[in-house]
This record gives sequence, C-alpha cells and structure tokens, in this order.
Amino acid sequence: MICSVVVDIETKQVNRSFDYLVPSYLEHIIKVGYRVKVFFGKRLVVGFVVAIKNKTEYKKTLRPICDILDVYRPLNEEFIELAKYIAEHNFSFYASALQTMIPTALKISYQKIVRLVEGTTLTLELKVMFGSKKELPLEGRTPPELALIYTAVEEGILLLDTKFKKKRNETLKEYLYVLDETIPPTSVQGKKLLSYMLELNEPIEQSILVEDSGFSKSVIKTLLSKGIIGAYKKEVFYEEEKMMTERMKISFTEEQKKCYQSVLLGKQETYVLHGVTGSGKTEVYMKWIEDVLSMNKTALLLVPEISLTPQITALFKKRFGEEVVIMHSRLSMYERYSAWKKVLNQQVHIVIGARSAIFAPLENLGIIIIDEAHEQSYQQDNNPRYNAKEIALIRSQTHQCPLILGSATPDVVDYYKALNDDYKLLQMPHRVQNRSMPVCEVVDMAQELKSGNKSVFSKQLQDQLCLCFRHKEQAILFLNRRGHSSFVMCRSCGEVIKCPHCDVSLTFHAYNNLLKCHHCGYQQPNVSGCPACGSDKIRYVGSGTQKVMDEIQNLIPEARILRVDLDTTKQKNDYEEAFSKFKNHEADILVGTQMIAKGLDFSDVTLVGVVNADLALNIPTYDASMIAFNLIEQVSGRAGRGNRAGKVIIQTYKPEHYVIKSAKKHDYDAYFNREIELRRLTAMPPFSQAFEITICSKDASKSFEEAQNIIRSLKKTAQTSIILGPAEALPFKVSDVFRFTIQLKVLEDAVLDKLREIYPLYQSNKDVDIKIKRM
Ligand code: ADP
Ligand code: ZN
Ligand code: ZN
Repeated sequence: MICSVVVDIETKQVNRSFDYLVPSYLEHIIKVGYRVKVFFGKRLVVGFVVAIKNKTEYKKTLRPICDILDVYRPLNEEFIELAKYIAEHNFSFYASALQTMIPTALKISYQKIVRLVEGTTLTLELKVMFGSKKELPLEGRTPPELALIYTAVEEGILLLDTKFKKKRNETLKEYLYVLDETIPPTSVQGKKLLSYMLELNEPIEQSILVEDSGFSKSVIKTLLSKGIIGAYKKEVFYEEEKMMTERMKISFTEEQKKCYQSVLLGKQETYVLHGVTGSGKTEVYMKWIEDVLSMNKTALLLVPEISLTPQITALFKKRFGEEVVIMHSRLSMYERYSAWKKVLNQQVHIVIGARSAIFAPLENLGIIIIDEAHEQSYQQDNNPRYNAKEIALIRSQTHQCPLILGSATPDVVDYYKALNDDYKLLQMPHRVQNRSMPVCEVVDMAQELKSGNKSVFSKQLQDQLCLCFRHKEQAILFLNRRGHSSFVMCRSCGEVIKCPHCDVSLTFHAYNNLLKCHHCGYQQPNVSGCPACGSDKIRYVGSGTQKVMDEIQNLIPEARILRVDLDTTKQKNDYEEAFSKFKNHEADILVGTQMIAKGLDFSDVTLVGVVNADLALNIPTYDASMIAFNLIEQVSGRAGRGNRAGKVIIQTYKPEHYVIKSAKKHDYDAYFNREIELRRLTAMPPFSQAFEITICSKDASKSFEEAQNIIRSLKKTAQTSIILGPAEALPFKVSDVFRFTIQLKVLEDAVLDKLREIYPLYQSNKDVDIKIKRM
C-alpha cells in the first residue's frame, strides 16, 4: 500500500504530494486525512495523507512512513478536497490550508494512549502487554506490538485516545509569542524553540511549552531577555456562558413567515437574505435550524467574531441546549479542541462560530447560514488566504443543503448575483412590531468649522446628547480610530513620528504615554521634543476615543461614559462586562470603535452619533465605500430598537458623497445602483476577477524590477484584461520590507493560467516574495 503525503515544511512550501510506503501493520489503520511522520530529505517532518493507492509513478524505492500522529482521523475526504481548492484558487499552500482545518491543540505535543474497553476479553499477548494496567502510552512500542494493538482497536477491544499531560484549570495564563524572529538565538535549544513557535504561528501558554513540549524554563527566559519572544498574561475562562435572556414565545411577522417558507431544505441553493437591522433575521435562522435538526441533519451558523456576544450565544443555548457548541478565538486552545472533538464525535449538531468554524467537521449538513455576510472578517488574509463564504458555498454543494447569506447591507457582488438569478433573493424590509427606522441627520463639519465650532461635536450632536441625557435615554458614539490622537506632528518643521520598520506614523496612546505602530506592534515612549528639529511644539493630530471622552465629560459633567475599543478590551471578559454594564444602564454614553457597530440590541438607545464618517471613506481600497455604507447602516441599526424612535447623526466633510446620501435614507438600492455602475465602469467584480499582486523584498529596487517582470509576462497573454502598476503599496514599507503592487482585472482565463504559472516561480526565490490576493 502506498500513500501520498503533503509535507509541511516551514520555509518555502511545495504545493504537491510525495509518495510513501505504508508498513503492513499500519495498513488497516491508515486513512486519508491522518497526519504522519515521514523523512523528507534528511529531516523528519509532519505530513498529511491525501490519497491512498497501489501504484506510484516514482521510479526509485519509496521510503516508508515512520509513524501515524493521530488517534482520531482529523480530516476526511471533504476537507482534503477543500484544502486543494483553497491552495489552487487562492494562491495559498496545500499544507497550510490543511493545518488551518485542525485545532491548534493537535499541533503541540500530547501523549497517545491505548486503553482497555470495559467488559472485553484480551488475547494472551495483550494481557501480557497490559499486565495490571488499564492504559498504556503508545510511544516506544515495537512494530509487532503496534500491529497487535491496531488489530485490537479495529476489533473494538482497545481504544485509542489523546492525553494532554496536565489538566489546566488556572485562570491566569502566561502566553508567549514571537516578537522578533530576525534576532538569531545563540543556543541550539533557543533555535529549536524559535522555530517551534514560528511553526505554531500563534501565542502559546508557557506551561505547555515546558511541560508538554519539553523546553527548559531557562531557554525561555533567555529568549525573553533578548526580546526574541514576548509574553503577556491572558485570562481564560472555563465555565459556560451565562444564560441571560428569557425565551419569549413569538409568532412570525408576515415577512418572516414568507422568508422562512421560501427556503427549500434538502437542496442546494444560495439565498441572499436582505433584511434591515431589527427585521428579525435571527428568529428565522433558529426556525430553519430547528427544522434541520428534526431531519437528523446538522447546522452551521457563522457570525463575525465581534458579534459573538454572550447575548447571541445565550439565545441559542436557551433554545437548543446541549446541541450547540460555540467556537471562537477567545476560547483557550483546549476549549477549542474539546469543542472540535464534540463535533467530530457527533455529540453536537449545531456549530456557531466565527470565520474558522467553517471548517467544523460537521457531517450531514442541512443548512449553512452566514450572518452579516457582507463582513470583511470572513476573509482570512494570510497563510492560507481563504474566504469563509466561498468555502461555505462549496460545502453546501457537497452536502446539497441551502446556504443563507444574511445581511442588512448585502455584499454588492452577492446582491448582483441575486438580482441575476444566480442566487435567490429574500427580502425583509421592515422592522418587527412596526418599529421605525431611525431618522438620519447629516452634518457638514466644514460648515461647523466656518461658523466657529472647533469641537469634535457639531452643534446638533451636542444638543441631542444633552437632550438624550436629560430624558434618561442612552447614546452611542461611534469613532473610526483608536488611541488618544492618531499621530504626533511637529508644528515647527512638520515632522511626523513614524515607525522605524514601516512606512506609517505611530499612534499615540495617552493612558500609558506610548507611541505604537499598528502594523508591526513596535512601540516606544512618547517624545517630549521633535526628533528632527528639537522643537517642543508637538501637536497631536486626529480625534481619538480619549479626546471624545474628554469633550463629552466637559459637555455633560454628570454623564457616565463607557469606552469600548481594542485598548480597553484586552482581557477576555472586558468586552462582555462593558456590554452588560451598558445594557443595565450603568452608563449613559457608550463610546467606541468598529466593535460597537455590530449586532447589539440595547432597547434604551435613542441616539447614535457617527463622529467621523469620512475616515471609513478614506480607506484606499476599492470596496472602501461598501465598508463605509455598511458601517453607517450597522451603527444606525443600534438606534431605536426598543419602543422609542431613534435618531442618527452623521458628521462628515463629504455630505454630498453618494454613500452618505444613501445611508441617510437607509436606501440600499440607491447605494447599490450607484456602486454597481462604478464597478461596471472600472471593470471590478462582479465584472472581472480582480487580484492584487504584492511584490515584497528587503531591496526596494529588486522588488520594483520583479514587479515589472511580472507585468511584462502578464501583458503577453492579456488581450482585454487590465493590468495596472507597479505602484507603491500602502504602506510602502512594512517590517523593513519594501512592497510594490500590481492591480489585475482578469477577463480571460489565459491570464489566470499565466498567473498560476508565475506564482510558484517565486517559491524558491530567497530575495523576493509575492502574494496574490483575490479581491
Ligand atoms: P436582526 O437579526 O434582523 O437584526 P433580530 O432577530 O435580532 O433582528 O430581532 C430584533 C428583535 O426583535 C429581537 O429582540 C427579537 O427577539 C425580536 N423579534 C424578532 N422577531 C419577532 C416577532 N415576530 N415578534 C416580536 N419580536 C420579534
Ligand atoms: Zn520639528
Ligand atoms: Zn511598524
């Protein structure tokens, strides 16, 4: 027996498999999807079995696989196919796609054990092997012993299991992460630790490194002191989310009923559910899921990480109890592993989770629902690049089940497909219980400045805030930045303090007086004078959360203000605590960034202010206006969810911009028509397949040269496709690497083929790296 293995090697990867011989004692146990240890050159590496066959094309003698790593099969054929698709379609790597699909806990060392099954009789040989013990470690067994064990496992006499060496229930963990991989560790152990952590590619608990992976505390200490790795403490909670909401008996509105009945379970079809905020989409989701369960099938609901609030999890737990498992990144590594295992063993039938939950090993899927399907966060941008929406479509086709894309502001491409009958359109244009959409006012901030108002708040917003406070109602203020002020500038010479590794300005954080880079994590103490000219006339430009907080406090000294942004929600529970505080009306005004725009249901909120709407419009990407429209719509969706009408004030320097104008009227169709015309004119998706190619090198001229080479070779095949560039990427320099970009709008398959040819050429290039991003 022969198996094809995709090996995982951390340097430049290869997108193909290699054949290995299966030793006879493993023949019965090995299946597609298992991880194995094999020799690759002189190194022992981990690989995934992607095929099993009897013949090989390889001319020389095959080497045998050395060991099987897993006791449960972590991936089945469906995922092997998916990984292949991801690698080919998104210019990623086969091995990293496979790695993404299994929980991190499986990537650290654990013990494999074999255990007696109660009430079965053992053969003499096994009796000798076990003696009086009930379980044995699998490690160190000889091949004949393994043959015996595996046969007994097949027969159900023995059970394989994993064992993490220690149960961990402490609440405060020290996590380690790679801080600077460019500093070479001097000791062999240090090098080993660094490459281990780089391979893991996410923070790991210190205790696991020491106890399970066998690294010494002293080597960790050395790397910490040299700044190669960093540490932070993170709280981990093990108890289930608290139940907070009472389940009400509700009867569907006509719109909900119609929407619910339009979906045919048991058949693949993609539906775009366009329902305004508060139209009762979640209730409809739950009804479909209920139906799917009664058909003995499973359900998958994806929501943006940010909307995975205790509110939503409690809602589903209340309704579906032990059938539901929640998967999100704030769970510890072991909690995620245990959730994954429950799904694998078919103990649960509903998975609710963020992006990566699309890989939950659910079998017999009956429905996949993606809530807020327009969200950017469904796109993973690095290694491996994939879009959860795309994976969802493939899985729904594999399982022949419906895929629902729910949103108040559908993705323009999805909506276009729905209008053209590629997808089906479901509409819920009204809020439940005749609640009205909030009234939107647009304030021209340039006009405010002219009339002498230098505050970050317009006169209207100030008045409304005071009114709202006097009526004992709540307000939410939305900002698009974090930190006290966005950047530090010298008023004498105009110098802006920048990150030494990236081409971006540093952000000032008032509460700890630090300057931080949001691209690479670099930080330094704040400066007292200009580093260029020595002047002490330092100015803080931009209006961040803290400044807004200060201004409100001046305006309404008695107001209780709550701040929610990335800086105030570092600890796992901070976020939840802040929301329950606001929900219980222990604060009057909530000030925050993107985080507060999503899925929250506060009944006392009657005023929402978008302090700086333009910042979203200024993002230099082609879908910036989509992001801006969504943001404004989402934020205004927070107002007036209770019985009182809501008001939204949008502050902008571009009151005439079509995004602002259509958001003001909650007019998605007006926005869509404008946007789709723009895309038609510029040949952007859905009218082409668009890619951004980024060429990176520590040597700027090399990077530019290669960009030109790529353009030249693409132009040879392109007749109608559009190729733009090279242009400097934004930011141009990140972590000391210079980046040029090429914009490619593909209208012919030949160009796509050419791109597939070019991509692997750079895998062996040490100086230049390219990334291809589908847009
Ligand atoms: P969406 O997800 O579309 O923003 P939700 O499903 O969160 O809307 O519904 C908003 C609120 O309306 C929730 O508090 C929900 O419990 C309530 N709701 C939903 N459907 C009904 C209904 N048919 N009758 C009464 N209340 C409803
Ligand atoms: Zn200066
Ligand atoms: Zn930086």
